[in-house]
Amino acid sequence: MLYSDIASVFDRIERTSSRLEMTSILSDLFRTLDPLSLRNVVYLSQGKLHPDFFPQKLGMSDKLVLKAISLTSGFSDDHVEKLSVKEGDPGTVAEMLMKEKKQMALFSESLTVERVMKGLIAIESSDGKDSQERKMKLLANMLHDSDPVEARYLCRIVTGRMRVGAGSMTILDALASSFADKSDRPEIERAFNVTCDMGLVAETLASGGMDAIRNVKVTIGNPIKVMLAERLPSLNEIMERMEGRCAMEYKYDGIRVQAHITKNEVKLYSRRLEDLTKNFPDIASSLKHALKGKEAIVEGECVSVNVNDGKMLPFQEVTHRRRKHGMENAVKEYPVRIFLFDILQNDGEDVTLRPYTERRDILSSSFGDDENIIMSNMRIVTSAEEAESFFNEALSAGCEGIMAKSISDASVYRAGSRGFLWIKYKKDYHTETIDTYDLAVVGAFYGMGKRKGRYGALLMASYDSEMQTYATVCKLGTGFDDAFLDSMPELLDKHKTNERPADVDSKMIPDVWFVPSVVLEITGAELSLSPIHTAAAGVFKEDAGLGLRFPRFTGRIRDDKGAEDSTSVSEIMELYEMQRM
Ligand code: ATP
Repeated sequence: MLYSDIASVFDRIERTSSRLEMTSILSDLFRTLDPLSLRNVVYLSQGKLHPDFFPQKLGMSDKLVLKAISLTSGFSDDHVEKLSVKEGDPGTVAEMLMKEKKQMALFSESLTVERVMKGLIAIESSDGKDSQERKMKLLANMLHDSDPVEARYLCRIVTGRMRVGAGSMTILDALASSFADKSDRPEIERAFNVTCDMGLVAETLASGGMDAIRNVKVTIGNPIKVMLAERLPSLNEIMERMEGRCAMEYKYDGIRVQAHITKNEVKLYSRRLEDLTKNFPDIASSLKHALKGKEAIVEGECVSVNVNDGKMLPFQEVTHRRRKHGMENAVKEYPVRIFLFDILQNDGEDVTLRPYTERRDILSSSFGDDENIIMSNMRIVTSAEEAESFFNEALSAGCEGIMAKSISDASVYRAGSRGFLWIKYKKDYHTETIDTYDLAVVGAFYGMGKRKGRYGALLMASYDSEMQTYATVCKLGTGFDDAFLDSMPELLDKHKTNERPADVDSKMIPDVWFVPSVVLEITGAELSLSPIHTAAAGVFKEDAGLGLRFPRFTGRIRDDKGAEDSTSVSEIMELYEMQRM
């Protein structure tokens, strides 16, 4: 398969904002590919060589990429660099210069997808002495044989800027339309949710059809998309929704971890699929030794505790475990316990489709005694009064609230979905704010007065999974202390982009745009109709969206969430409706 065919598809996708059109362009391409090429093309379309949970090591610095562009195009380093400052994206620079190329490519050999994959894997695996020079030459070698559009995407892939606009949902649509029926779409999505590997799903579907997809099971080593909770404004409503009877568990305020345990190895994944094993080596070791069976996948919340009295400590304490350096000291200084709340695989059996109470029984009997491992506190409640007293106990124990969990026969573990099988209720709901919002930073405004020379306010957005866009909800300028103001460039500037990202829907124009990546926790007074903000635009009133009044940063950077995990537009709509009740 020629790489130019793929690059021209990326180009067509980038030019359209219609999800339907993207789906149709992709499915026309997918149909023509053999299963293995399809797997590779799916990864490349996301700017990756592997599934999301693999540590991605491709990231080349802009400087190195510009050097490769200069080498292949014949333009001076200085010229290439100046153009890069103007354009802000080495991909665009490569494309422009390849069009005007000074050197004619002698002995050019067309790029194939296989060659590109091989070249990129070689770049990724170069390390040690002279590795920078080797990476640069490997890229130059591919650029030498590239046309301008191919060069654009090669440079975007190696610098981590590949965002053609087709998200996971569009790829799933395209796969269903190429190899199955529209009605099979939910099962294909389920296969993705339990493996987090779109390439694997694509290859499985193309080679084995829907039978193979239905056979996809949770597997050790492939993180599973986490199940999430809905919210309701009162315990009464929760009990009503649960038909008078449910399990309630403490809602621990820590870091969620999904542990894949075998007798040889344990891997801990965050909900963003990062590998957290090195951050919690003590927990990993306890899980490995205390597991009674051969293997399991369990979920729990890691919370800092005071070892003297066993009391839980506030969330900030456990964040010391997320640091990159000095982990040995952090392990000693910040003791942690894992509060287990679910099991997804037990001794090779996928238990996600078993009801909650069965999973809970399996979980409770899976581990021997270990002080680091504690079962989440759970009680079956049958009235709002019992729920209220459990909630108060949870708060006194230092938790942020409770999780109500359905115990009906249908109470499966629903990977990757937010639904009413789990309903959260937090102490914030007792006060005037209904909940905190986790919003993605999409822009910044330069500060004035005391904040001159720094970013003074941020443009915050929520994710619209239907449209695959980010819609603005507020301009945030409160709750920043000096340390945060100083740290903003380091936190944000790597996501800077010269133009509004294609997936950001905004009427406001900030001084600086960011590719949505960083998520901050925000509180606010209330949601109200807003002519400026684009979240739920036109839903409650023509020409108005929903905006958050008096937003304030809580001080918590949600680095456990990617931009797509930010509070969604549909949750914002629900919160607005709850507020009006
Ligand atoms: P929040 O910001 O309220 O933590 P969220 O968007 O991260 O919300 P939700 O699904 O809304 O996720 O709330 C569930 C989260 O609560 C889980 O991701 C998990 O980290 C945490 N949690 C704490 N205790 C429990 C428990 N007993 N059962 C399930 N999740 C729990």
